[in-house]
Amino acid sequence: MNLRCGWCDRPHDAGCLQRVCTDCGRPLLARYDLNREVGEKLRGDLISGPHSLWRYRRVLPITDPKHILTLGEGATPLLRTDRLASRLGVANLWIKDESQNPTGSFKARGMTAAISKAVELGAERLCLPSAGNAAGAAAAYAALAGLPLRAYMPSDSGDSFFAECRACGAEVVAVNGTIADCGKQMRAECDPAEWFDLSTLKEPYRLEGKKTMGYELYEDLNGVLPDVIVYPTGGGTGLVGMWKAFDEMQQMGWLDARRPRFISVQTTGCAPIVAAFASGAETATPVADPQTAALGLRVPGAIGDFLILRALRETGGTAVAVTEEEWAVGQSWLAADCGLFPSPEGGAAIAGLMKTIDAGSVKPSDTIVVFNTGSGFKYPPATWPKPPPAP
Ligand SMILES: *Cc1c(COP(=O)(O)O)cnc(C)c1O
Repeated sequence: MNLRCGWCDRPHDAGCLQRVCTDCGRPLLARYDLNREVGEKLRGDLISGPHSLWRYRRVLPITDPKHILTLGEGATPLLRTDRLASRLGVANLWIKDESQNPTGSFKARGMTAAISKAVELGAERLCLPSAGNAAGAAAAYAALAGLPLRAYMPSDSGDSFFAECRACGAEVVAVNGTIADCGKQMRAECDPAEWFDLSTLKEPYRLEGKKTMGYELYEDLNGVLPDVIVYPTGGGTGLVGMWKAFDEMQQMGWLDARRPRFISVQTTGCAPIVAAFASGAETATPVADPQTAALGLRVPGAIGDFLILRALRETGGTAVAVTEEEWAVGQSWLAADCGLFPSPEGGAAIAGLMKTIDAGSVKPSDTIVVFNTGSGFKYPPATWPKPPPAP
């Protein structure tokens, strides 16, 4: 129907390229006309639709299907993990394995939606700052669209991210600094009249692609949501997206008002959301010198901070920070117990779960879904999963 600001609720036209709220500069959220009838039709699409997140097209922003740029993203497996569950002392533990997406991370979900929609609305040049995975995904979909992309990445991101972007025809700028510095340099060099900015939550549709994780969980678990969702959080797109998806599902009569508790995991070197959650603040204070090799979590300040914090509080969730040593252990268990080769962020999610179990905020009987958000293969070798510590 239209877009509404997540902060001040101001409506914006969905028929042209939009960025953030023209009043307050905060993220815009897409609104659909949803009811039980739409919900029934969407159920039908789950059987007849493509084996990708595009089977949820009815609740995605594309108007004409010919604009869809797809590599088969989404529809990732939800893996039951009995060995890791018994190691952690819980009964029902599932891993949503997002490393099986095209380009090796769940960033593909956001980019298939955002770049398809940007093309539909006439964007001609694309740009973004990225820790690595977003740039790789953007480069792939920009290549499909045949559009130029400029990606700004910290120079210490993995070589594979640079190689992937260049191979897909993108222009890559290496920046000495964090993703925030990348964003600054990009804004200085890319005129917004010419270059459409795909930064997290600075355009409305990456969120739409990522919300499909919420729909998939419902489908994977045969119409019941888990008690707990553990999500390694940088910009928070996936967490806010799932929270939005659950509201949409309720509007369509799929759910009642109960929600899974969201657990947001960050690292001790960059934990703005954890600090804001603990202090009761409505927004987060940016971290001055973010330090972590979990690249997707090295986000010093998130424009959607207030949405992340609302999602945590409204669902009775929490936020927890883990050290570099702790995520490396979590990563080892994902490899040694589950057969995965996870990115550091996936390890962080497991480490965060261990802490919340110890603190009593997750009960052994809870049904738990942990997101392994990306593959470790593209990361610098120093951050690859190691054999698990000796017992
Ligand atoms: C980007 C990224 C994250 C953080 O995702 P957000 O939705 O922006 O919070 C986590 N893990 C990996 C592997 C990522 O690439």
